[in-house]
Amino acid sequence: MHPALKILVGALMVTLGVYSTLGFWPEVLTFVKAGIGPLLVLVGAFIVWLESDELKMRREQKESSQTDGMQRQFTEAIEGETDEGVEQAQPVQEGNTCSECGKTFDTERGMHIHQAQKHE
Ligand SMILES: [Zn+2]
Repeated sequence: MHPALKILVGALMVTLGVYSTLGFWPEVLTFVKAGIGPLLVLVGAFIVWLESDELKMRREQKESSQTDGMQRQFTEAIEGETDEGVEQAQPVQEGNTCSECGKTFDTERGMHIHQAQKHE
């Protein structure tokens, strides 16, 4: 269909619509007034549904962020323990360090073998 023709049809529809509306004005007015109630119900219900959903989502996000916080604290606690573990492990490693040349060994036994071979 040609755009100009579409515009013509559209304009005709507007004209007919206006004419029809004016012709049934009392009925149109009644329809509009009668429609306000159901429209309010629909819009109100939509808002309630939408916002309750939003509220639910926010609560879930809050809960998940709280869980994240707990997980972070938990992880920090574990990492703290790990750090302590490393600090505790370091003296053992120092114990595996040759007192003569400072070379470190995985085992105390290996260090003793090294000392026996190189320094005695
Ligand atoms: Zn050594």
